[in-house]
Amino acid sequence: MKRSVMLVLLVLALALGAFALAGCGAKEEPAAPAGESTGSLPAGVQAIKDSGTLRVGVKADVPNFGLQDAATGEFEGMEIDLAKAIAKRIGIAEDKIKFEAVTAKTRGPLLDNGQIDLVIATFTIKPERLEQWNFTSPYYQDEVGLLVKKSSGITGLAGLDGKTIGVAQGATSRDAVQAEADKAGITVKFLEFATYPEINAALESGRVDAFSVDKSILSGYVTDGSVILPDGFSPQDYGIASKKGTDDLTTYLNEMLTEMQGDGEMEALLTKWSLN
Ligand code: GLU
Repeated sequence: MKRSVMLVLLVLALALGAFALAGCGAKEEPAAPAGESTGSLPAGVQAIKDSGTLRVGVKADVPNFGLQDAATGEFEGMEIDLAKAIAKRIGIAEDKIKFEAVTAKTRGPLLDNGQIDLVIATFTIKPERLEQWNFTSPYYQDEVGLLVKKSSGITGLAGLDGKTIGVAQGATSRDAVQAEADKAGITVKFLEFATYPEINAALESGRVDAFSVDKSILSGYVTDGSVILPDGFSPQDYGIASKKGTDDLTTYLNEMLTEMQGDGEMEALLTKWSLN
């Protein structure tokens, strides 16, 4: 081959290579941070991203799920980590998550008045609640249980005939225990409290004979002097709640939960917080 022809071919090859490289470069998107979904977000999710913060109602008094450190004010638990995973996926920095302490009684109204975007707070999915709020598919399942003092000698539900049971306002516990008591043919009374530490204190002082709520919540309150009875009833599926009608947000969160449940991330989260 003549040297001039070779030169032309070489120049052509170099030009083609440079063109290809430039083409690739133009098409390349900036890489999304790990865990953040690429592409456009559904309108409801984009609106949260545009607001710059993710406001999440969480428990402050439920060890392993949502617990606030009294000294630092920091929240920790499985549901806190779940909120962080959501923020990461949306593209909101962790320090832009605003955690709001909620109780069984306050979480719904806080969603309704727009003070929070999500509730991730041991919130059981119930048909009547689905009429008021959006819920994702379940991320955890529990059952209702009873915590009693060892010194009471009570070993099962039957031993609670005529006794008083402490429950949280706005929780599913009262109806669940009542249904179970009816089945067992026993009579029980209830005292309602705003928070779990208050119910536990009432158990300690003898104002109530048993503390009833979901077993995983009870497990955070067991002491050397108390025991969770083996009875368990009324399965509780926990879902992430948002305002009624925020369907694209719910779908987005469901996709995330499905992924986390499929790739082992949810299992790892439950293991981290001793919940499986
Ligand atoms: N999980 C139950 C409920 O949603 C117990 C109460 C609570 O979550 O604090 O009512």
